[in-house]
This record gives sequence, C-alpha cells and structure tokens, in this order.
Amino acid sequence: MRIHAHRPAATSILAGDPMTHPFSTSLNAELPEWLVGELDSHTAPLATHEERMALVNSLAARNFREGNGGPFAAIMVDRSTNLVVSIGVNVVLSSGLSAGHAEFMALSLAQTRLGRWDLGASAEQDLELVVNWRPCIMCYGSLIWSGVKHLVIPGDGPELEQLTGFDEGPAPTDWRAELESRGISVTTGILRDEAIAVYTAYGESNSIVYNARGTGSRI
Ligand SMILES: [Zn+2]
Repeated sequence: MRIHAHRPAATSILAGDPMTHPFSTSLNAELPEWLVGELDSHTAPLATHEERMALVNSLAARNFREGNGGPFAAIMVDRSTNLVVSIGVNVVLSSGLSAGHAEFMALSLAQTRLGRWDLGASAEQDLELVVNWRPCIMCYGSLIWSGVKHLVIPGDGPELEQLTGFDEGPAPTDWRAELESRGISVTTGILRDEAIAVYTAYGESNSIVYNARGTGSRI
C-alpha cells in the first residue's frame, strides 16, 4: 500500500531538487509487492490468537528472505469482528527509513485506512496489535501513542536480540505495567517456539542487521 506517491531520487535527498524544493517534502513507506499481492487472501476472520500469530510469523519468515528488512511482521485485528484491519512488515531496507518497523507500518496503515490517529477512539472497535516479539523502544512508544488497547506477542525475553543481533533499545524494566497502567492489555506466550524458529533462521542467514551508527553488519 502506497502512503504517498512521491519517492525522491537518491541524489535529490542529498542535493535537493532546485526545480521543486531544497528539502524532501514527503516520505514513502509501502508494503512490498509480494505482500500487496496476497492481501485479498487475508480478509477472513481470525478467531484465535494462534491463528493471528501464525500469520504474523509466516509474514516475518518471508519478509527477510524477500529483502525488505528484518524478520518482523505485525497485524492489527479488531476483536469485535476478528477481522484484520491492517498488515505490516518491516520495510527498513526497502524504504531506507529506520522507522520502517512492522508495528509502525501496521499502526500507520490502520490509521490511514480508518482515517484517524486515535485507534482507541471508536466504541465499535477493539483493536489489538499482534506482533512477533515485544516491540522495540520506538514501537513501544508508538503503541502508546496509537490508542491501541491490546498487545499480543510470543515473548519478551532476550532471545530476539541474541538470535538476530538487533539492538531493540533500553526497554523499561516495568514495560508491561506501564502499558497496563494506560489501559493496554498484554498477552504473551502465543506461538513462542514458532517465533524463535524465525529468528533462528534469520540468524543463520546472510541478512543485513541494520543497527545504527555504522554498526550494522551482515550476519
Ligand atoms: Zn520497532
């Protein structure tokens, strides 16, 4: 899904385009073509957390092999209908945006589809974010800002960083209590072994770990 049609050429990012503006005026983060092509197959209700996480894990496993970014995927589901509202995968490599995490995509595409920034504002919808591990500190903040009321994850331990090499940032030690104090429920332990299998496969691949400050590497 294209958020904005304008994609500046790489040279214009550095040098500006004297024919238009000296600086970039928009950003572009879109789902990869392989995922866009299968979105029509994800319109059926997903009644259980296991069904939802199975979709997330399968998208995460494919995403890094397709070269879009890390082994991460997220979906937004409306608990009142069991329907998927949005689907996101990590697009850091394909977009060139460090913020292009799966949760950012799922949250933003849901907000774009629903036409509002507060995903907790509707009395008819009860939205949950299903993602294949505890969010990094950026997405942890994005979750709070989004208004989503439920987070569903396979786990929250150090396994993700250990197996993949990513730096997820300094999460608060009381991260779960901080969410719950804001009315955000946390469900964990959903298809944990399957999530670990994706990270193990990623760690054994020749994929780029895009940590910042020049510390990115090919593992
Ligand atoms: Zn993140």
